[in-house]
Amino acid sequence: MTDLRIGHGYDVHRLAGGRKLILGGVEIPWEKGLLGHSDADVLVHAVMDALAGAARLGDIGKLFPDTDPAYQGISSLKLLGEVGRLLGETGFAVVNIDAALLAQAPKVAPYKAQMAENIAAALGIEAERVNVKATTEEGLGFTGDGSGMAAHAVALVERLSA
Ligand code: MG
Repeated sequence: MTDLRIGHGYDVHRLAGGRKLILGGVEIPWEKGLLGHSDADVLVHAVMDALAGAARLGDIGKLFPDTDPAYQGISSLKLLGEVGRLLGETGFAVVNIDAALLAQAPKVAPYKAQMAENIAAALGIEAERVNVKATTEEGLGFTGDGSGMAAHAVALVERLSA
């Protein structure tokens, strides 16, 4: 019987001046960027948590503690590659990923395909297995007033070996 496992990831980061805005591994020109220990790529963080959840690897806080200086300013795509390696090592293959960015601005539509490609490449999977979408929250809440961004992701993985 095919052994499929699903995982969900959710993450939030604050927006601040003087930081690069990195989403799905794409640097997007914007007046603010996300605050965090790594590059604070909220979309990739949600994807990692979804994968970690599906493969029962815990969460990214456990895998990459933000108290560890090794992860200071690190590209989240590198961490995603590490999650992919751990998945393979524990006998899981990624079936597909669907990720959603919640942000009022900037418009990210022109970058979504590149984000999906970056995520797929970091995991060594086909680009058609990854979908990236974005929505505003109609000006409501912390995404609406521009104080932060959030992301959700779901991932389906298949257990290939016990
Ligand atoms: Mg995070």
